[in-house]
Amino acid sequence: MGDTSGMSQITPTGPNAAGVRWDLAPICADAEAARALLDDAIARADAFDARHRGRVAELDAAGLAAALAELASISNALHRVGSYVSLRRSVDVNDDEARDLETVVDQGLVRAQNALRFFDLEWIDLDDAVAEPLMAAPEVAADRHHLRSSRRFRPHVLPDDQERMLAERDPLLSAWQNLFAQTVANIRAPFDDGTGAAERTVDELLSYLHTPDRPVRLAALEALYAALEPHADVLSTCYDSIVADRLVQDRLRGYATPLDPRHLSNELEPAWVDAMMAAIEDRYGMAQRWFRHKAELMGLERLHLADQYAPLGAGRAMPYAEAVGIVEDSFGRFSDEILNVSRAVFEDRRVDAEPRPGKRGGAFCSSVAQDAQPFILLNHTDTLRDLMTVAHELGHGMHFALASAAQSALSMHAPLALCEVPSTFAELLVFDRMLKEEPDPATRTALVRQELESGFATVFRQTMMVRYEQDAYGARQGGQALTADRLSGFWIDRNAGYYGDSVELPEGYRRGWSYIPHFINTRFYTYAYAFAHLASLTLYALYREDGDAFVGPYLEFLRTGGAASPGEQLGAFGIDLADPATWARGLDEMERMVDLAVEG
Ligand SMILES: [Zn+2]
Repeated sequence: MGDTSGMSQITPTGPNAAGVRWDLAPICADAEAARALLDDAIARADAFDARHRGRVAELDAAGLAAALAELASISNALHRVGSYVSLRRSVDVNDDEARDLETVVDQGLVRAQNALRFFDLEWIDLDDAVAEPLMAAPEVAADRHHLRSSRRFRPHVLPDDQERMLAERDPLLSAWQNLFAQTVANIRAPFDDGTGAAERTVDELLSYLHTPDRPVRLAALEALYAALEPHADVLSTCYDSIVADRLVQDRLRGYATPLDPRHLSNELEPAWVDAMMAAIEDRYGMAQRWFRHKAELMGLERLHLADQYAPLGAGRAMPYAEAVGIVEDSFGRFSDEILNVSRAVFEDRRVDAEPRPGKRGGAFCSSVAQDAQPFILLNHTDTLRDLMTVAHELGHGMHFALASAAQSALSMHAPLALCEVPSTFAELLVFDRMLKEEPDPATRTALVRQELESGFATVFRQTMMVRYEQDAYGARQGGQALTADRLSGFWIDRNAGYYGDSVELPEGYRRGWSYIPHFINTRFYTYAYAFAHLASLTLYALYREDGDAFVGPYLEFLRTGGAASPGEQLGAFGIDLADPATWARGLDEMERMVDLAVEG
């Protein structure tokens, strides 16, 4: 079950992860080395272009395998350079050398992509009679799923000259997206959180929703809505233009519904997702039950939207070294293999955990490249939430590490709907251990509430957002312009369906849709979060039942990465995505947590 002594020796004991910075040298020695690697990759992409363009149809199995190996190798180099520069930028916005490098890398990546794009298009264009025997050949076995799944878009690809014309128009779509991003990024609202009035960004105002100070929460939300209001028309026009453009493309490409491109890209059947969302909506009541109970705990008649994520008692501090120790202990009980992956992340200094000026906020795990190891960015401030973030990002890390060791660069990346499964599962390992062994009852209670509320946000709110998007696309298809007020109507209706009368929605919340980037950048993106969360809960329930027998298949799942579809990968655990009853399992797990939170 692994060594449970816990602490890695190299983790520090100071507050806020002081001094925990990563060492990027294993990715690229320095900026000069990165430029050299980029130049070499571009030269190889050009050579690949010259050798293969117009001739993909002539490849035999051995030739196809060799071409895929070359593509994987170029992709590794490009990912390595791209990751190096973005990791450097993420810890120091003022790093001028990195900023210069980023300009060069961005241009280089576009150039390489332009040189290589033909390969996929020609591959997709091959007749089944030619492609099928090639895919069946043992030489390409490692990338078989990649080859097959890239052809799923075949019915929706247009003739070459039309594709080129559409691609040339892409900057127009980006212009709307940029206008949206710039508008939201430049929004400032004067707000006094008690430390003095200052101009705050949208993200800063939203972060006050987690403070224990109720008047500050309520005021921050009001300040946010007041700041959004003057921009509602610009933000709705951006969205209207983007939706209109997507609907035109859908018609040209022959998609039956606006969700179909997303389902196809996620490798999920529309009926499976429909059944999942219906099952989730059926259980909105459990969130309302919690919101009513939370109001009671707070001595309120009714919960206000600003209280949704309000902490009720913080639990104890979670210094970085202790957080890492708890996470490793939890992993070690599951399997030595994932414990070792986690240990190596710390021992190789692939974590940057110290918050400091000039460093971006939040947390992420970068896979870097298939021939490299994952790196993790954290901003550890010793809270209980930070403990779960350490687990979450290491969950991604173990997925990347095991998949990259087993798969090629073209086949290592899991489909979107599965990306958040290992991270959520890792959180559940830590959650379970804390519930059993954390001595401080206030900390256990805080943890249950935190997990519950983040589960609601992930499963229920994200589903509600998809319904809102469906309303918007439906209206636009029916010839209605997506004005700010029309969008606000859809938004409030869908929110009312979720919150019922358990939460008071303030008047300004009608503009709550306006700053959310997913709607603008990737339509219907958010159901993948709900999918992954429920899948993780279901897997965890299986682990509780099967114990050690579950571990082997789970490690195999991590190793699979992108070499199989979500249906195949979850099917290996006996989870049938075509069965509408499948979703009840994960939702029951959530209900169990509500019972725990409400009944204690
Ligand atoms: Zn994640």
